[in-house]
Amino acid sequence: MFEQSIATLAQQLRDKEISSVELTRLFLDRIQALDPQLNSFITISDELALQQAKAADTAIANGSSSSLTGIPIAHKDLFCTQGVLTTCGSKMLNNFIPPYESTVTGRIQQAGAVMLGKTNMDEFAMGSSNENSFYGAVKNPWNLNKVPGGSSGGSAAAVAAGLAVAATGTDTGGSIRQPASFCGITGLKPTYGRVSRFGMIAYASSLDQGGPMAKSAEDCAHLMQAIAGFDDKDSTSSETPKEDYLANLNAPLAGLKIGLPKEYFGDGLDTKVADTIMAAVKEFEKLGATVKEVSLPNLQLSIPSYYVIAPSEASSNLSRFDGVRFGHRCDDPKDLLDMYTRSRAEGFGTEVQKRIMVGTYALSEGYYDAYYLKAQKIRRLIKEDFVNTLNEVDVIMGPVAPTTAFDLGSKTNDPVAMYLEDIYTLSVNLAGIPAMSVPAGFVDNMPVGLQIMGNYFAEAKLLNIAHQYQQNTDWHLQTPTMAKGA
Ligand code: GLN
Repeated sequence: MFEQSIATLAQQLRDKEISSVELTRLFLDRIQALDPQLNSFITISDELALQQAKAADTAIANGSSSSLTGIPIAHKDLFCTQGVLTTCGSKMLNNFIPPYESTVTGRIQQAGAVMLGKTNMDEFAMGSSNENSFYGAVKNPWNLNKVPGGSSGGSAAAVAAGLAVAATGTDTGGSIRQPASFCGITGLKPTYGRVSRFGMIAYASSLDQGGPMAKSAEDCAHLMQAIAGFDDKDSTSSETPKEDYLANLNAPLAGLKIGLPKEYFGDGLDTKVADTIMAAVKEFEKLGATVKEVSLPNLQLSIPSYYVIAPSEASSNLSRFDGVRFGHRCDDPKDLLDMYTRSRAEGFGTEVQKRIMVGTYALSEGYYDAYYLKAQKIRRLIKEDFVNTLNEVDVIMGPVAPTTAFDLGSKTNDPVAMYLEDIYTLSVNLAGIPAMSVPAGFVDNMPVGLQIMGNYFAEAKLLNIAHQYQQNTDWHLQTPTMAKGA
């Protein structure tokens, strides 16, 4: 039951083969039995989930349901959920109960879905391994000694282990795609502006984008149906009409032009991961696609420019956490300044503090031109690389990450090694284009994700391409052994 697709479960709910209350109980039981091994949830909202499930059963009985009605879903703990603790993985917010709902979670709720709880994540979404959470590291369900990826590691692990049918994530520099790749699930980072950021706790506002994480492209499409589209509460939300993400899933791929950027297959890429990606590309050739080598010459510059821009925006966004309005406040402050500094020193973890310092430095007078402005110029070059290449080909394919999931603790003392993990994902956010991670095989029993990058607002096309691949392969249907234990 826990391995079924959204469409199948929706049909079973409509046919009264199972009720949403039963389905929700099944997932809550699985969370209770298996999550102690994974630590993928920060909050389990069981009472609310059962109330929502009851309401969903009534809606289904009345014939007023959508494909998400009654489906148990988990949300990254970065989306504000009204009345439900929202921590963003930080001690700073370990007492924060939002008075309002984010647009993404609100739309999913309106579609009738059940919220099982809030998933663990790197603090303020800063990380690539989910080891930066105040609530402890998340484990990879394929191997409990390995990281699930980050920062949406809790969502990825929960879906991979069958603790939720699907989940939400956010992607500032790879945080949907890289954990999806490491945990063997499907994730979509939409075009910047396609999904509202209202109620998402900001990390780097010009890069952040929420999106679906699920077992298949088809399930991601069901979530996109609910969450995509203009929102007047987000000033950067796009007015471009949203597409029907389900309508073209079955379109044939004959004639599809795929570009393989040579920079994505150079030094640093694990050779077995490279072989897995090339095998996936062969599969697309069988489906009628043609492949050509392309170039994204500024790829190497994405790490230095991202790691200036993202911390700069973060240093500004995180200045609101001052112990005054919400969040952690230190005990017995001497005066106002003491309260600010001690509240922030106690509330933020090491990685967050490091990034605030880097960002504040990059934005300070005298350094702004040398760092921030320079990084913005590089950002435009990176964007132009994609625009030019996507004039030649329909989509770009490559790996999501240079390796499969690494051992817990193996990179925590080496920030450069950790940042290098993001080499294939950051540029997509800098350009603002959409991209997916799709399960494409295994290396030494750990999942490998194929990255598919498309033009602005090409989400429906990406989902179609990924769906066709999944109709012809079964990598996305594999289940980790630990998930079968309950
Ligand atoms: N790993 C990147 C970072 O730490 C990306 C994180 C994200 O996408 N939220 O900034």
